[in-house]
Amino acid sequence: MAELCYFTGPMDCGKSTLALQLDYTQAAAGRKGRLFSSHDRAGESTVSSRLGLAKPAIEVTWEFDFWNYVVTQLTSGHRIDYLVCDETQFYSAEQVDQLARIVDELQIDVFAVGLLTDFQTRLFAGSQRLVELADRIETLQVRALCWCGERATHNARTVNGQMVLVGDQVVMGDTVPVSDGEGEELPMAVAYEVLCRRHHRRRVTRAVARATLSDPLPLGENGAADDEF
Ligand SMILES: [Zn+2]
Repeated sequence: MAELCYFTGPMDCGKSTLALQLDYTQAAAGRKGRLFSSHDRAGESTVSSRLGLAKPAIEVTWEFDFWNYVVTQLTSGHRIDYLVCDETQFYSAEQVDQLARIVDELQIDVFAVGLLTDFQTRLFAGSQRLVELADRIETLQVRALCWCGERATHNARTVNGQMVLVGDQVVMGDTVPVSDGEGEELPMAVAYEVLCRRHHRRRVTRAVARATLSDPLPLGENGAADDEF
């Protein structure tokens, strides 16, 4: 039986590396597949890993229809045994429904890889649908670490170095125009950082911790200074 498998974790835990590995392992076994991504860090139509690996991929836009794509490929004589779908947090719930239908009706394995929650700690729509529909959910084994050394579980967005909890759900990490709240679009440096829940709740990013403490905290130690946060 084909399966819809969902691999998830916060940023920096090797999700795109896993997507590339899944594709490699399946292809090495003689299976034919397709690789998909959306808004990859390296640009459109690519799956790239922070480790330096990259491979061309099909870009999933809002209009993209997985069902139509796969059926068209099959009816034109191409073979598809599996799909590897990276950055699934950017897919719509409807697109995830299409993936489940492909698994059930066409017996094609789907490996979905992506973030579970956004910078406001809320589920992305596509991620929620994957939790609802997946045959199997796996949390990535590589643990991303907060600056304090605890397991990092939450994604924080910073704008010009300040952690923010309001804004559009999808903003790429870059210098981009961001609304100043009064109708003006100003260029802002948007970045992301993974934090433990405690430091996400208290908005203590690595930069805030550094600025507050004269001595930087050694990673992995929760000394007296850490208790101040
Ligand atoms: Zn922390």
